[in-house]
Amino acid sequence: MTTSIKAAIKDAIKIAPPSRRDRIRQQLADLKMPGALESLDQVLAAADGGSATPADAIEQLLAAQISLRNNRRLVAAMRSSRLPAVKTIADFDFSFQPSVKREQIESLHELGFIERRENVILPGPPGVGKSHLAISLAIAAAQSGRRVYYGTLADLITSLEEASLAGHLSHRLKTLGFPSLLVVDEIGYLPITRTGAMLFFQLMSRRYEHASTVLTSNKGFEEWGEIFGDDVMAAALIDRLVHQCHIVNIRGNRYRMRNHAELQSALHPEFHSELHHEPSRRTAQTSHAIPTQRKTAKERRP
Ligand code: ADP
Ligand code: MG
Repeated sequence: MTTSIKAAIKDAIKIAPPSRRDRIRQQLADLKMPGALESLDQVLAAADGGSATPADAIEQLLAAQISLRNNRRLVAAMRSSRLPAVKTIADFDFSFQPSVKREQIESLHELGFIERRENVILPGPPGVGKSHLAISLAIAAAQSGRRVYYGTLADLITSLEEASLAGHLSHRLKTLGFPSLLVVDEIGYLPITRTGAMLFFQLMSRRYEHASTVLTSNKGFEEWGEIFGDDVMAAALIDRLVHQCHIVNIRGNRYRMRNHAELQSALHPEFHSELHHEPSRRTAQTSHAIPTQRKTAKERRP
């Protein structure tokens, strides 16, 4: 082979364009889309084999990227938000809990309530899935890129009390006031002090109309005066919470004891009554926020 032919071949190799597949790889890497990059070969094989239309292929590629991004967000949120477990709406057995309306829960998981800074309250007896649904809302919010934080009422109050003693209360209130979604779990399980109740009231006042809170309680609102040790404060707290709020009443059986129906009704006959945790008149179960008279003209806009 002459030198000139060798040089020509070398040049041709140098300028040979990368295959389209390589270009797409490069583009996905440039765009920092490792999920899509990883599924590219499989998606293209499906498209080449005729089992996926071009639109299917694009959708699958984007879905792979979104799924990877959401998992990464979830891992980060599990570290920073103190969520105690991964519970999702997909693991929730609606057939076991007919008092829970699937449409209401699915619609809440679309997270419009966070945009509208509305609250969600889940009252109901122990073991019926209140924490499960509260956590699954927080996980959906975290996967959508929002800041979330989880605490039981007792934990949150302890952290506020500690901050108060150390002279950092306003900083702590700011930190807990900031997340787009705060879960306050287990209201009513443990007694709280009057100072604790006042600190929690301050936190809720701070979040009022500013960011959403999801609360679970094994007690009806009529018992909150007792929990917080002050009827007037409890009434003011409830007033703030239910102004723009979704109530998800769960009546029914403990999920973990689902195979022991007789034992359940023997242990908690009151929870088997339809009347237990019946919503009060102003907090009837609804998939829409409950507007109260304090709603302003601005908020009335869709
Ligand atoms: P609560 O907060 O009402 O006391 P949890 O949400 O902690 O109850 O539920 C207790 C356990 O049962 C959890 O592990 C939860 O995931 C599970 N669980 C409760 N209800 C359901 C359900 N309907 N489908 C699937 N798992 C459920
Ligand atoms: Mg719970």
